[in-house]
Amino acid sequence: MRAVTWCGSGSIQVGWAPDPKILNARDAIIRVKATAICGSDLHLYGGCIPGMQRGDILGHEFMGEVVEVGGLVKNLAVGDRVVVPFAIACGNCYFCQKGQWSLCDNTNPNAKILEKMYGQSGAGLFGYSHLYGGYAGGQSEFVRVPYADIGPKKLSPGVTDDQAVFLADVLPTGYMAAENCNIEKGDTVAVWGCGPVGLFAIKSAFWLGAERVIAIDRFPERLRLAETFAHAETLDYSQENVFERLMEITHGRGPDSCIDAVGMEAHGTSLDARYDRVKHAMYLATDRLHVLRQAIYCCRKGGTLSVPGVYGGFLDKVPFGAAFAKGLRFAMGQTHVHRYIQPLMERIERGEVDPTEIVSHRGRLDDAPRFYQTFRDKQENCTKCIMHPFGNS
Ligand code: NAD
Ligand code: ZN
Repeated sequence: MRAVTWCGSGSIQVGWAPDPKILNARDAIIRVKATAICGSDLHLYGGCIPGMQRGDILGHEFMGEVVEVGGLVKNLAVGDRVVVPFAIACGNCYFCQKGQWSLCDNTNPNAKILEKMYGQSGAGLFGYSHLYGGYAGGQSEFVRVPYADIGPKKLSPGVTDDQAVFLADVLPTGYMAAENCNIEKGDTVAVWGCGPVGLFAIKSAFWLGAERVIAIDRFPERLRLAETFAHAETLDYSQENVFERLMEITHGRGPDSCIDAVGMEAHGTSLDARYDRVKHAMYLATDRLHVLRQAIYCCRKGGTLSVPGVYGGFLDKVPFGAAFAKGLRFAMGQTHVHRYIQPLMERIERGEVDPTEIVSHRGRLDDAPRFYQTFRDKQENCTKCIMHPFGNS
């Protein structure tokens, strides 16, 4: 089959790979109809996540049609149209039972490595390095889905393939980021990053009762989407002082909650951002955390900092004293996608959101090398790329 593979930092290729096979009675094989590139894939592309090997198949946002099921998968049949959550969950362990699906104890066969780094390991993830299980991803014609009796969700006919692919990750991720803020009616929320995750976090913050949402980025097309698609007020951080503007808007108090939808590759020109860049370039640091620092600084006392943006390593110069002194609450982590697919699919069906409004590029798997570069460099007003391995049928 054709598949998109990681071939080193900054190098993506499309090539031939063996067709996946059922290895376990709880597996299914999916024929991928639509698959997207995520900001998280850019961290792999940028070489920021260790544990990648040349030839690894990328992709954790995909939907398609079931073509084969293992003997224990009773909930799916050949021909079903499904979306697959990006984290793999067993459904039985302590964490799955609590609905913390992305923290599943049983799906990362390489848990030992992460346990050394982090104390405990989260769930295995599709196409996201050998640290997270080395599972082949879905930027390919076919993909093996383990624990298919738990993960894949059958789609309503009213939801299109391109809409469905958003349910695998970024729509639930934006929603959980906003939910983690415990928004009260009338709150002001600041969102750093107007990529897909930030845009869905803004929409969700309004659904959950926010009165004002301030969206921060520097790319005009992304700020425009924050305004027209998500109805936020916008702040261009390359033109204005973020702290001063946020204080002005909130009468000196600061936003009630702050969402970091940027993560480990934050851009910036301030002294701390330059410091991060130098350390990163010298392989002395894994993460560039300018946004995290700024959000801690801006958030109101007793407010919440929600971090959907991915961080990987040991963060330098975190103003933890400020976070402590201001009594901030932190919430973060990989999204528990399984929890959100059904309610968010219903919102799509009711017409409350059409996630495809943020798609800028559509193509085939062969377009992947160009799409990765364009999405990373935010060229051609690129906001989201979707690939159709078998064409747009
Ligand atoms: P993206 O690359 O499209 O968007 C990131 C945005 O951040 C860009 O628009 C960029 O201009 C902006 N940005 C950079 N520096 C900034 C700054 N100093 N201030 C304000 N904005 C700044 O990516 P995305 O797909 O929207 O993903 C965003 C983050 O969410 C990534 O870190 C990704 O890995 C993470 N993510 C997490 C989960 C999860 O489960 N927690 C799931 C999906 C994505
Ligand atoms: Zn993703």
